[in-house]
Amino acid sequence: MGTVALKGVQKSFNETPIVESLDLDFPDGSFTVLVGPSGCGKSTTLRMIAGLESVSSGSISIDGKDVTELEPRDRNIAMVFQNYALYPHLSVLENIAFPLRATKTPRDTARKRAQDIADSLGLGHLTHRKPKELSGGQQQRVAIGRAIIREPSVFLFDEPLSNLDAKLRVETRSELLAIQKGLGITSIYVTHDQEEAMTLSDRMVVMREGKIAQVGTPAEVYATPANVFVATFVGSPKMNIIAGTMDGTAFTSHNGESWSFTSSHTGDVLVGLRPEDLTLKPAENGPGVIEQIELLGPRAVVSVALGEQKLVSVVEAEPLATLASGQKVTVEFAAEKAHVFDGSSEERIEKVAIS
Ligand code: ADP
Repeated sequence: MGTVALKGVQKSFNETPIVESLDLDFPDGSFTVLVGPSGCGKSTTLRMIAGLESVSSGSISIDGKDVTELEPRDRNIAMVFQNYALYPHLSVLENIAFPLRATKTPRDTARKRAQDIADSLGLGHLTHRKPKELSGGQQQRVAIGRAIIREPSVFLFDEPLSNLDAKLRVETRSELLAIQKGLGITSIYVTHDQEEAMTLSDRMVVMREGKIAQVGTPAEVYATPANVFVATFVGSPKMNIIAGTMDGTAFTSHNGESWSFTSSHTGDVLVGLRPEDLTLKPAENGPGVIEQIELLGPRAVVSVALGEQKLVSVVEAEPLATLASGQKVTVEFAAEKAHVFDGSSEERIEKVAIS
C-alpha cells in the first residue's frame, strides 16, 4: 500500500508563501510527476512529503495515517536524489544492503536480498564493483536499489536524472519506468523537464508559482491545456500564441491578419496553435515569410514571420520540399485545432469553435 494525500498543504519561508494550499491525492501504485519551471515549489512539496521540510499549515497522510509531524525515518518513504551519494569504499552489493545494517537483518539474508535486487536492476554481474567503476546510469540504479531494499510505501525522486548526459538520461528514464511498473510502488517524481514528465508519468501535476496549474494524464494536458502557461510549457517546439479578437465569424490578430472562424465566443482571446497544426503554403503575396528552416531528420521546424508575429511550424518531408527560406507563404489552421484562451485571464475557453 502507498496512498499519499495532501490536504491544504502550505509552506512559507520568512513569511513569503512558496507553496499555496495544495490538495492532492496520489493513488497506490501511481507514478505522478510534479513538473514546472525552476523555483515553482516542486522540491519543497516533495521535501514536505518526505518530512525533510515542515509544513506551515495543512496535513499529509500516507496510507490514511497522518504523518505531518513524523520524522522522515518514520514515514516509510525512500527518497532518490540527483546526487546519489553512494559509499565509495563499499561494493555495489554492500551499498544496496547498507540500509539493512540499522535493522539488524542477518548478514546472509541482507546479502541475498541485495543480490536479488541487483539482479532485478540489471546489476547482478556488477555487485563486486565499487561505485567509481560504474557508469552514471548504473550508479543511479544502485541508489534506487538502496531505496528499494527498505521496502518503502512511497518512492520520492528529486530530479534523479539531471546529472546524466542526454543519451543516458533517456535510457535511465525508461529503465526507471520499467522498475517502477515492476514494483508497483507509489512514486512521486520532481522535474523541471516537461519531456521527462510527459514520458514518465501516469499523471502530471503542472505547478506554477506554488500553485497547481493543471493535473491530468500527459495526453490530457497536451490536448487540452488549462491555460496559456501550461499550453506553452508542455510541448516542444512551444505552442504558438496569437493575440486577437473573435467576432463570431472570424479571428483577427492584433497584427491585422484574419482567419475565418465561426464561434459562439466573441471578444479578446489568445489563440494557441501547436506547431504541427499550422499549414504553410507557398503564395506569391504572403502574408507570411519563412525566416528559417531547421531540419530534424524527416521533418523540419520552420520559423515564419507574419508581420510582427513570429510563428513556428513543424513541417513533414513532403510539404517541406515546396518551402525555402525567404519564401512567402499563407499560414492556415483547422478551427478545431485551435486552443482558445481568454484574453485577460489566459484560461482555456471550452467549446469555442463551431466550425
Ligand atoms: P523548485 O523545486 O520548483 O525549483 P523549490 O521548491 O526548490 O523550487 O523552491 C521554491 C522557492 O522557495 C524558491 O524561490 C526558493 O528560493 C525558495 N526556497 C526553497 N527553500 C528555501 C529555504 N530553505 N529558505 C528560503 N527560501 C527557500
